[in-house]
Amino acid sequence: MRECFEIRDTDAGGRIGELSVPRADVTVETPALLPVINPNLDTISPRRLADEFGAEILITNSYIIHGDDDLRERALADGLHDMLDFPGAIMTDSGSFQLSEYGEITVTTEEILEFQHEIGSDIATPVDIPTPPDVPREQAERELETTQERLEIAEDVDTGEMLVSAPVQGSTYPDLRERAGRHAEGTDLDVFPVGAVVPLMNDYRYDDVVDVVAAAKRGLGADAPVHLFGAGHPMMFALAVAMGCDLFDSAAYALYARDDRYLTVRGTQALEEIDYFPCSCAVCTDHSPDDLRALPDDERESELAAHNLHVTFAEIRRIKQAIRAGNLLELVEQRARAHPTMLDGYRTLLDHAAQLEHSDPVSKGSFFYTSHESARRPEVVRHHDRLERLSVPDSLLLTEGDAPRGDEYDDSWRVEPPFGPFPRALSKSYPLTAEVPDRTDRAALAAAADGVARLVDVNPDADITLAHDGWPAAILERVPDDVALVDLTAA
Ligand SMILES: [Zn+2]
Repeated sequence: MRECFEIRDTDAGGRIGELSVPRADVTVETPALLPVINPNLDTISPRRLADEFGAEILITNSYIIHGDDDLRERALADGLHDMLDFPGAIMTDSGSFQLSEYGEITVTTEEILEFQHEIGSDIATPVDIPTPPDVPREQAERELETTQERLEIAEDVDTGEMLVSAPVQGSTYPDLRERAGRHAEGTDLDVFPVGAVVPLMNDYRYDDVVDVVAAAKRGLGADAPVHLFGAGHPMMFALAVAMGCDLFDSAAYALYARDDRYLTVRGTQALEEIDYFPCSCAVCTDHSPDDLRALPDDERESELAAHNLHVTFAEIRRIKQAIRAGNLLELVEQRARAHPTMLDGYRTLLDHAAQLEHSDPVSKGSFFYTSHESARRPEVVRHHDRLERLSVPDSLLLTEGDAPRGDEYDDSWRVEPPFGPFPRALSKSYPLTAEVPDRTDRAALAAAADGVARLVDVNPDADITLAHDGWPAAILERVPDDVALVDLTAA
């Protein structure tokens, strides 16, 4: 385990962790939001971020500070903490984003890391190459090689107690992202941003974001603190946390405010289209939408930015509470309903259920089956794996009904969608205590049938009978032919 990061609680791939930032003498609880501070314009002052919003960490751009004579002199003379007046941890970016936007920057990794150290940054970033999505594979490979060389250079720079991040690139090639993750994990660097996902998020390609993160995580391993670079919309935090991201940076709160856009956990709304605020933060309770529209530009921008931050921090807290309570995936299911592309993201997350299963607790408070996607949750995957290890008698009845009275069978097990068969002794243990709607859907039945098939597959010599509540023919086709079928509804 990396010394700077300790995991406290997990749910699915999500976790509550503690990131120790020694140079700031601060411990940041993750998942954490890093508001982005533009050193030239602070919409909300860093002091206010700490006092009013509880921000423990923020991020600012060392490249902008380096390139501006006045800012550079002040940062070198006073240090970032005094210059910004922020008591928490300060992470600095290196200019890689400027590189991706404008094609060129004029500092080397050594220079910018040393500069970040000199101005008192607590977590620094080398100059990596943020390769965009969908580029030719050879470009992605070539640029990844450059990024990896720079990470190796970064390892050799004397940075004292300052943590240094190791961005993971590789464009939209999962194998390259995984390789990049493994390489980054092998360095002695500390924090791992998954880079260049902003173009994917701008295009609502949440399914690709999930695949990219899943691949990076396979390379990085479970213990690495992961930063989803440039992800600042609260709508997608639950999904990203469930995938195993720990840090987010938000420029969105300020950028959207500048354009009169109002963030919610279900998406973004134009202020001019809002008649009622769906939020109970101070901005939204002190103002009606008309009040806000009537304010002078700078005041309106500041109020909107404050609301945007409130809703963003509230979502982070909600996610932490969900991890504690063990219902993070229920929250992801709710968020997935906000937009079809979010639903694609959630469905893609479930493609990685076996990967998530490794960190998903064996026992939690509740499993609410709230959509047909629930049938693909890690708990169902785990139960099906477990079926391979249960011992089965010579003749076994699997039934959705009551236990039989006679001795026709050696034993009788319950069958419940979406899990499938299990010994009655397990019926009080998680996740078989799940709350499932009475009006079961086909995905749950199909998963249960797959569970039966799995049991039969590893016990080919057992005589197995399935007594079901009128499962449709298409579902029964998933059950192997040598299983005897009894339709309990056919009496
Ligand atoms: Zn509000």
